[in-house]
Amino acid sequence: MNAPLVIVGAGHAGGRAALTLREEGYSGRVMLIGDEPHLPYERPPLSKGLLQGATDLASCSLCDGARLAELGIEHVAGNPVSRLEPAHNRLQLADGQWLAYSGLLLATGGRARRLPQHLPHMLYLRTHDDAMALRAALRPGTRLVVIGGGFIGLEVAATARSMGCEVTVLEAGSRLAGRVLPPIISEALLALHRDHGVDVRLNVTLESIHADAVQLVGGQVLSCDLVVVGIGMQPNLELAAAAGLDVGQGIRVDAQLRTSVANIFAAGDVCEFQLGGVYQRQETWRNAEAQGRHAALSLLGRELPFDALPGFWSDQFDWGLLTVGAMTAQMVTRYLPTGGVLLFYLHGDGHLQGACGWAPGNSVARDIKLCERLIAARIPLTAANLSDPEQSLKHLLRS
Ligand SMILES: Cc1cc2nc3c(=O)[nH]c(=O)nc-3n(C[C@H](O)[C@H](O)[C@H](O)COP(=O)(O)OP(=O)(O)OC[C@H]3O[C@@H](n4cnc5c(N)ncnc54)[C@H](O)[C@@H]3O)c2cc1C
Repeated sequence: MNAPLVIVGAGHAGGRAALTLREEGYSGRVMLIGDEPHLPYERPPLSKGLLQGATDLASCSLCDGARLAELGIEHVAGNPVSRLEPAHNRLQLADGQWLAYSGLLLATGGRARRLPQHLPHMLYLRTHDDAMALRAALRPGTRLVVIGGGFIGLEVAATARSMGCEVTVLEAGSRLAGRVLPPIISEALLALHRDHGVDVRLNVTLESIHADAVQLVGGQVLSCDLVVVGIGMQPNLELAAAAGLDVGQGIRVDAQLRTSVANIFAAGDVCEFQLGGVYQRQETWRNAEAQGRHAALSLLGRELPFDALPGFWSDQFDWGLLTVGAMTAQMVTRYLPTGGVLLFYLHGDGHLQGACGWAPGNSVARDIKLCERLIAARIPLTAANLSDPEQSLKHLLRS
């Protein structure tokens, strides 16, 4: 009997890959091995609805246990893979068991980057269990300091503020989410958070964290009950590195998501792939979804290049951010009647290569979908028609 296809990491990309194998008609053994005790689930609600208590783990899961069993996907929970031996096509689980594989997908995601200091009231947010611990600590009047003005930190700040907490955000840089967003959106985020009573401090450096306060360089002391650290994530690439696979900032793959070992693939947050000629990782729902599916096809021997457009979203208070494509090149701004804004990234030859929308609720979703189609269609556009809110994107697409 053939050894199974094995997926390491029962998160979003890994779960999606397992389901895709069955959707594509693969009838051999599929094993999905995770270190968390849960079924594969999507993480975006962890900083939003789930943190607020508006949703639960079951509604974040990719599928329920009965469905996995029905599909014959063998889910091993709470038993991480501790060792890979590519030369022998086998791996070892933490409980000592060895498993052979015919093909392997590494979808090990990442973990929250930690500060060296550890105190009981310092929390992180990566997993469902992290979210539940944080939810239990958020009460009206809780004085929360969020370290890091990136997406996770800002979403936690917005959710905690909506739950009645007193929230301060500390950001070392000169603007919010500055690594990935243009200044106009950083400014809008800053205004939104301040309007909702979040005390956002930019250009601040942390000196130390104490049981009831955070001290900044310069001597300022902020009293608090709780600290959430949101300073990015570290990809779980040690397993691959120890097995001798090529790694950079993630597990390096080629266009088919194949690692430096022919029958091992990687997908999701841990995967470093070439986008626009540059190796990079994408830490987004959209990438986990698309690469999970694609890696399954690669495991089945379909030699297709991965060329899905990148993109992400974030929800903060009652506003939504959505991006698609590459946010480089000439930026054209369209101010929307809702008070929101659409940014278009126009290539020198006149075609759209990316877009970013910021608007109340989900109101910009349709525009971003149209932008996605404009990017794919490579329709020549001008800055003048893109910046004009009277010019319907649907009309531009038809032209
Ligand atoms: C709080 C939060 C909010 C987010 N919000 C958004 C959002 O609004 N929009 C957006 O686009 N993206 C968002 N993201 C990002 C998105 O959720 C991730 O990009 C996505 O979950 C990545 O999927 P993945 O499968 O690569 O990794 P994960 O979902 O992290 O899954 C990896 C799994 O592998 C397990 N694992 C690791 N090592 C081993 C091992 N040795 N053996 C077995 N299992 C192992 C991990 O524990 C984990 O369960 C958010 C992420 C977080 C944490």
